[in-house]
Amino acid sequence: MKLMYINGQFTKGNANGEIEVTNPATEEVLDTVPRGTAEDVESAVRSSKEVFKSWRKMGANERTSLLHEVASKVRSHKEEIVHLLTLEEGKPIPENDEELEWVANTFDYYAELGRHDRGRVIPPGEHSQFNFILKEPYGVVGCIVPWNYPLLLMAWKVAPALAAGNTVIIKPSEMTPLTALYLAEHCFDGLPAGVVNVVTGFGAETGEPLVKHPDVPVIAFTGSLATGQRIASHAAPMMKKLHLELGGKDATVIAEDADPERAAKAVAYAALINAGQVCTSTERVYIPQSKAKQFTEAIVEHVKSLKLGSGLDASTDVGPMIGDSYRAKIESHVEDARTRGAQVLTGGQRPRDISKGWFYEPTVLTGVDHTMLIMREETFGPAVPLMEYTSFEEAIDRVNDCKYGLGAVLLSEDPKKIKMFFEDVKAGTIWINDPLTDNYAGPFGGMKYSGGARELGIEGLDEFRETKHVHWDFNMEDKSYWYPYGR
Ligand code: NAD
Repeated sequence: MKLMYINGQFTKGNANGEIEVTNPATEEVLDTVPRGTAEDVESAVRSSKEVFKSWRKMGANERTSLLHEVASKVRSHKEEIVHLLTLEEGKPIPENDEELEWVANTFDYYAELGRHDRGRVIPPGEHSQFNFILKEPYGVVGCIVPWNYPLLLMAWKVAPALAAGNTVIIKPSEMTPLTALYLAEHCFDGLPAGVVNVVTGFGAETGEPLVKHPDVPVIAFTGSLATGQRIASHAAPMMKKLHLELGGKDATVIAEDADPERAAKAVAYAALINAGQVCTSTERVYIPQSKAKQFTEAIVEHVKSLKLGSGLDASTDVGPMIGDSYRAKIESHVEDARTRGAQVLTGGQRPRDISKGWFYEPTVLTGVDHTMLIMREETFGPAVPLMEYTSFEEAIDRVNDCKYGLGAVLLSEDPKKIKMFFEDVKAGTIWINDPLTDNYAGPFGGMKYSGGARELGIEGLDEFRETKHVHWDFNMEDKSYWYPYGR
């Protein structure tokens, strides 16, 4: 069993048994972790709150060096971490290599951004006064993380939160806690005890006590809409700062001028990376009616050529899904679409030649419409539903006909269409011709039901700093506007 990390110590805490962590490609148990409880959250909060007093006052140079040290330790352990991540999460090694690169670079980026400014000075109302704005840490930040990019989404919260002077408690997903514990042992070990804690457990048993704890003023959460809504309902009466990164149902629009072969590759990558289990996966594809045949044939041919298999196999393109219940969801969406008249052009089933693991064949569907679950609800699996449009305005209306607003992709070199797309589509990130590429300085997050938080960039740092205005008058004199008015 791997132990939790509380106040710089590895411990079983007050765990109520163990949780098995399973390899989604083989269904074998990899290891176990403690099934944490509210008492474990309490211990972590106590240590985090105590060390916050000194961590927030640490000089910028020292804190910056400590965060760079985390980044360099991630790089020096990259191979072991990538291997473990592939075992517990399932996606292919090249995707996990990239995740690790992002983790290290995020710590480096926020190490520097954290010492860049602490607020601003504004012109005073009178010459004898001095006004400035301080950006201050909140205190203990609860970081609740999902399984699909367990380290990247953890780093996008932990690095800016620490750089801003907060301390953190990480609650990894019960499905992928091993890599977070590995980082605690090998990468966070140089930080003062309690600055980073990792409490393992189920959402209801450790996540929820963290959300309800009076000494945790910020909850940074990435996960499903349903869990986000539950967290918000608990946090609202406590006036907590919420940072919510929720679901998505991103669309790709292929414009008439796009090259069919290239569009096929872009769509397949955007829809199938991590077996479609990305919040910004392309889950709806709109193709121009005038060229529907060419685009459809190119996409089907390309998707058929992809290899399904274990993430550890260098020739694998698409790995397993994380679990049986997640596979059941895509199965129900495909079934619903079929029942309502859609046609499956490839995939639409479990692979016959793989007997173990939660695999589902990359699936292309046509004849879909917005009454179908596969075009309305987050599928979070390897599906590519294609829907035809007749005018570009109609395509944009379709993109916006969705409760989520995380990202959107356009494949085109037509400047008028591009401008219309980035102005009229309601989504937090717009990708043109290069889907799903992030930028450390570019804020990432959603609109509408995707939640309004932003990660990365200066915006990602400001999520973990609160604003204080200091108004300072050098002259302690009576003011003309004080009582009595009838002077
Ligand atoms: P999930 O909501 O089931 O779980 C996420 C985390 O919340 C886990 O650590 C879980 O243990 C915890 N949790 C569950 N119930 C809780 C509760 N009552 N209180 C506190 N914590 C609780 O989501 P998941 O299945 O792990 O992840 C997939 C979802 O995450 C998808 O909907 C996906 O779109 C979303 N996601 C969003 C982004 C983004 O940036 N917007 C990125 C990745 C994933």
